[in-house]
Amino acid sequence: MNNLTLELAYLYPKLLNIYGDRGNVLTLLFRCKARGINLNVSTIGLGDRLDHAKFDIYFIGGGQDQQQILVSNDLQTKKEGLVSAIENKTIFLTVCGGYQLLGKYYKTHDGTELKGIEALDLFTVAGSKRMIGNVLCKELESGKTLVGFENHSGKTYLAKSLTPLAKVLRGNGNNSEDGFEGVRYKNVFGTYLHGSLLPKNSHLADKIIRLALEKKGLQMPDLKVDDTFEMLAHKKAEQLSY
Ligand code: GLN
Repeated sequence: MNNLTLELAYLYPKLLNIYGDRGNVLTLLFRCKARGINLNVSTIGLGDRLDHAKFDIYFIGGGQDQQQILVSNDLQTKKEGLVSAIENKTIFLTVCGGYQLLGKYYKTHDGTELKGIEALDLFTVAGSKRMIGNVLCKELESGKTLVGFENHSGKTYLAKSLTPLAKVLRGNGNNSEDGFEGVRYKNVFGTYLHGSLLPKNSHLADKIIRLALEKKGLQMPDLKVDDTFEMLAHKKAEQLSY
């Protein structure tokens, strides 16, 4: 019997949840449960108080520009706590619209500048071409492939001091220009990959769980969770054309 417990904050599930982003949270729940880890999920919406000291993992999904406007405004009220959580190596998984808003700003087609929380030195500007399709990339840290689906017009540019999450093998990634996808900073994972991401990339799900446990001085239970079907889906997605 162990008492491994993790707390996850799922930010804006009603506004930012496209292409099954919620599946990322479900995968974390499933893979934690299989290892006897209690993962408690709290949903946080507009105007909700966020008790930063409580959470080990934050998840933010993607959405339309309209929803991002509401989220961008609300995030300004939570900015200070989120930035210090990031600096304090709390685990963040953020997808597309959520990823964009960790940066300085997202400038939409009509020139509106949606403020980010400025935790990461990156910015996003809407391009004329919508980047939509299957993505295959290689995670820089592990050399493992990541598969997913992107749909964004925002082009994200990282400062030189930041490391991308992955190298694009097929698809657009951050901006369709530099060949990179997402961002990796401290324990932050930012990515354009929907799909959802974690169900088809169980290695990344396990890495997130392990990092969250290690941050608390706990060890990942030495238990292999069967991911035969997940990896079949991963392999299949590797073969999809853009
Ligand atoms: N609205 C943003 C864009 O088009 C984010 C899209 C998304 O989250 N899929 O770039």
